[in-house]
Amino acid sequence: MQTSDAAEPAGEAAASSPYSGFRLGKSLVVAIDGPSGSGKSSVSREVARRLRAAYLDTGAMYRAVTLHCIATGIDLEDRVAVEAAARSIELFISTSPDRESVTISGDDVTAAIREPEVSSAVSAVATTMGARAELIRRQRALIAGAGHRIVAEGRDITTVVAPDAEVRILLTASEEARLRRRGDQLGGTQSEAQLKQQVTERDAKDSTVVDFQQAADGVVTLDSSDLDFEQTVAAVLGIVRTVAH
Ligand code: C5P
Repeated sequence: MQTSDAAEPAGEAAASSPYSGFRLGKSLVVAIDGPSGSGKSSVSREVARRLRAAYLDTGAMYRAVTLHCIATGIDLEDRVAVEAAARSIELFISTSPDRESVTISGDDVTAAIREPEVSSAVSAVATTMGARAELIRRQRALIAGAGHRIVAEGRDITTVVAPDAEVRILLTASEEARLRRRGDQLGGTQSEAQLKQQVTERDAKDSTVVDFQQAADGVVTLDSSDLDFEQTVAAVLGIVRTVAH
């Protein structure tokens, strides 16, 4: 079973936002793909708040299946077992941009799925096509459940999960910027070699099944290497305004 809570009103900031009434009542799916460390999760969450839309972090779903396999002793190389785990997992992910919450069978795993052990192993789930098919099915159901008013981010949202999205963006950044951001996110606890494993090597493995380095036709590329957080959010909202009006 899989449920999600609807996006809640996002408070005073959103109420006074020029985007708060934007396309209300109409479908507004904003699909954002990009490599690790591109800043897409924090940027997408903030864009969702300002648009008063729901928010879906699809990477968290791959991470949850990975954690579940590690915790229950499922061999990540056993593709049949990994696919079965993806099908049977009782996974809940909040789609409110104001409440980050992931549970497996009711257990809160919101923090555990971010552990480096999960980051290093997650590509095994991502490259198991049967597991991907099941997670894509669940992601589409969550998008529909949010009334198609949602910012969804990952690696294959613009191309596979929601190719008909009103707005499709590839958020990129230089390798140097991505390593720095991921290092800051993890509080400086990781060595350079560990960061490379979690960013560059993971992207190389993930790229074998999904192309998130090159924008597909109709997808707008936004390079955030020289932009700070607020500038990146503003740039995404600018694209939303231009493309979806
Ligand atoms: O975005 P995040 O780094 O949390 O994603 C974790 C992993 O989930 C990625 O490295 C990739 O293996 C997988 N993923 C995917 N397709 C998506 C989202 C994430 O394969 N749409």
